[in-house]
Amino acid sequence: MSARVLNLFQITSVRTAWAFLVLATLMFFLGVYYAVELLSSPAPSSVKSADIWFLCAWFLATGCYIALASWALFTDAGRAYLVSQQPSTPARNLRQYIRLAPFAAAGLACIGIALMLISNWFPEYTCRCEVPGHWECKSASCTKEMNAHLREYGHAIRCRRTDWAATVLTSVLSPFLPQLRDDTRK
Ligand SMILES: [Zn+2]
Repeated sequence: MSARVLNLFQITSVRTAWAFLVLATLMFFLGVYYAVELLSSPAPSSVKSADIWFLCAWFLATGCYIALASWALFTDAGRAYLVSQQPSTPARNLRQYIRLAPFAAAGLACIGIALMLISNWFPEYTCRCEVPGHWECKSASCTKEMNAHLREYGHAIRCRRTDWAATVLTSVLSPFLPQLRDDTRK
């Protein structure tokens, strides 16, 4: 059973087990770092449920890999399995590509989280009020201006992240997460 699980997660040799362990641990702590950034943000109301889901999935995936890789490396049964896999039959082309898939996925995840962090560190908002052409703000901190405008005119205001990292993220993710398209804050 456990051997099949390891195979499914592409942990098939001592080398890949170590690679996955190191990679997953790094990714896990990147997630922790992002969560801390998120929770210590000055405006807790801006934490979106998409972020929470993302983090849950992130911790689940990295946690699985850490647990599986450590099981394979640090238990007798796991070691025995890895060693038995060592003289592997020459892989066919397609199988080689399938083996690379988890690394490609991890790479994509890395790029994604890097973009999220960059967007968090260097945010730029574009805010407009509901009256066309009346008011617009384009900077990292429109909150003050926005509140002043809200107090003075009572116009509803829509804000979008427009830094390049957020732009890339939203254009890639918006087909899957339609709520990203309109990040309305009032
Ligand atoms: Zn206005």
